[in-house]
Amino acid sequence: MDFDNTNDSLTRRVRAFTERVARLEEHDLYYFNMPVEEILPGNKVFLRGREMGMYASYSYLGLVGHPRINEAAKKAVDKFGTGTNGVRMLAGTLTLHKELEETIANFKHAEAAVTYSSGYVTNLTVISGLMGRGDYVFSDKLNHASIVDGCLMSGAEFRRFRHNDMEHLEGLLKSAPADVTKMVVADSVFSMDGDIIDLPKVLELTKKYNAWLMIDEAHSVGVLGKTGTGIEEHFGLGDVIDIKMGTLSKTIPSIGGYVAAKKDIITYLSHASRAYIFSAALPPAQAAAANEAFKVILDEPWRVERLNENTKQFIGGLKSRGFDTMLTETAIVPVLCGADDMAFAMTREAQHNDVFVLPVVSPAVPEGLARLRATVTAAHEPSEIERAMDVIGEAGKKLGLIK
Ligand SMILES: *Cc1c(COP(=O)(O)O)cnc(C)c1O
Repeated sequence: MDFDNTNDSLTRRVRAFTERVARLEEHDLYYFNMPVEEILPGNKVFLRGREMGMYASYSYLGLVGHPRINEAAKKAVDKFGTGTNGVRMLAGTLTLHKELEETIANFKHAEAAVTYSSGYVTNLTVISGLMGRGDYVFSDKLNHASIVDGCLMSGAEFRRFRHNDMEHLEGLLKSAPADVTKMVVADSVFSMDGDIIDLPKVLELTKKYNAWLMIDEAHSVGVLGKTGTGIEEHFGLGDVIDIKMGTLSKTIPSIGGYVAAKKDIITYLSHASRAYIFSAALPPAQAAAANEAFKVILDEPWRVERLNENTKQFIGGLKSRGFDTMLTETAIVPVLCGADDMAFAMTREAQHNDVFVLPVVSPAVPEGLARLRATVTAAHEPSEIERAMDVIGEAGKKLGLIK
């Protein structure tokens, strides 16, 4: 018999997607994967032949294109070329990686740090490297996909607590066997909602139930804390998180991920985590750029202040126009739309008026909670933010989302 895959489950999944994309394109509702032609000052971009305000980027402190950072990257290319041609364990490690890891450890007030080639890979390899069969991992329901994947890959018992619900977390911790290894893992700032994990309470619970604590700071480095060093500074706590994970691709205008922790943990990860052993080291330019970026954050504290002011303006302005911005307290600002189609239509209206925002729809968020996921940065001018909010407001009125 001939093998026939014309209607197997894979073919059906592919077809469903193709049809969904085609339907959106047909109605001018598809705005994903748009190639930016040029990045302009003031967090603007040149795209489809027009200048647009960018409200979907994670360059929270506006560091992309910073002269010091660009210069560091260029110097690194001149000295080391463009690739590492090997894994960290063998010939891939450069002085640049060591410098970067020392900078991160200092920035995060930790003993040591280790870097990987992406944030996604960092969560996969660190969680699955630290936890294993028989262990218990407790994860917030709204945690990033890379955390979920890392937990599943680890083979540990996977328990999910309701979003930021500390009573639920305590119940789950209590019901796990007392003598097993436990870890609680959560985003610091939740990437779709912009709210902040209740770190003081999580900390209390991890102490009470003898659990390790891992926090993903993808959206809190440069964002939280008076000097932008992250969630511990935000809550006025010292070096209290066991595993401080972060990415080099958001506030830090590079690529890669890191973990900062006690020296022994870092030594363990640099010999036992698979992405360190089996995947190439960060390219020189990216390592040097990241290293310089952490220094710029500390040298230019006005950026964090500016971000805070812009965030207040953006959340306050959208709320006063009648939008529901959910529980955000940070630069990630959801504009609740409800149905997926409303989020797509809001995007189209905004994009037509040169405001670059994107929708988040199911299954990335629960059905009925589709939204625009707007971000504001230190690079935006207050007058530009006002204009963007006017555009979003007009769109909301036209589509009946607000009065
Ligand atoms: C973006 C993100 C990551 C992944 O980081 P990359 O460097 O883009 O791979 C991990 N965790 C969270 C919470 C994120 O938002």
